[in-house]
Amino acid sequence: MLVSMKDMLQKAKQGGYAVGQYNINGLEFAQAFLQAAEEERAPIILASSDRLVDYLGGFTTIAAMVKALMEELNITVPVALHLDHGMSVERCKKAIDAGYTSVMIDGSHSPIDENIAMTKEVVAYAKEKGVTVEAEVGTVGGQEDGMVGGIQYADLDECIRIVEEADIDALAAALGSVHGPYQGEPQLGFDEMKEISEKTDVPLVLHGGSGIPLHQLQRAIELGHAKINVNTESIQAWTASVRETLNQNPDVYEPRLILLPAIEAVKDAVKGKMREFNTSGKA
Ligand code: 13P
Repeated sequence: MLVSMKDMLQKAKQGGYAVGQYNINGLEFAQAFLQAAEEERAPIILASSDRLVDYLGGFTTIAAMVKALMEELNITVPVALHLDHGMSVERCKKAIDAGYTSVMIDGSHSPIDENIAMTKEVVAYAKEKGVTVEAEVGTVGGQEDGMVGGIQYADLDECIRIVEEADIDALAAALGSVHGPYQGEPQLGFDEMKEISEKTDVPLVLHGGSGIPLHQLQRAIELGHAKINVNTESIQAWTASVRETLNQNPDVYEPRLILLPAIEAVKDAVKGKMREFNTSGKA
């Protein structure tokens, strides 16, 4: 059974580790994530980015797929299904109705009053169904919601306001992280992170979790990050494997033969992240 994220994140924050959010890019990814979590005994958050939901067959298809895979694969570790970068209140409600146990409402591109208002609306709908809500303040760099943008640091007062006024379960405070590959060493705002974490006392979410060196990940976890989002590292592992299989076997045409090694590659990449985030053995 799918669980909500709240319990997972509170345990992670207390235990000094972070739960990974891994983005689904197709059935094989969901399989790889669930198998990696079971083998590592790690709690896990499977997510669909809102911009990929239609491509993946819609909310009900995704929720049914994840639930069925959990049953078929005998998954016993805690699994949450999360909407990443929900584009509107309506989209978040649709995800909740389809069986998602967690949603992110991304109002970060709107002025803070509007962001808080839409977040409150989602929280009101989610809370009575036991669904967790993540909100964002500031802007993650790189590709977000299909738009390529610059980094905009989260403002401390806005973070305090959204946590207090909207009563959210997790906060993505953008502090220099980037979706997609980093150009050079990531520059995360650790001073701001410390202050936001102390003053809001809510589990923080690190977007753009691929390509961040281990010492920076560990510092971010120490400073209150209980959830780290990963997409780029798993899709890069998938693509590298597919490319290698096709290059080495020019006559291959059966998808299963191309994708089985890719599933293993994604599994290995995710297990590596679970060890870095210290989630392994926590379920
Ligand atoms: P990466 O693609 O950089 O790992 O970021 C994932 C993410 O933050 C999804 O919200």
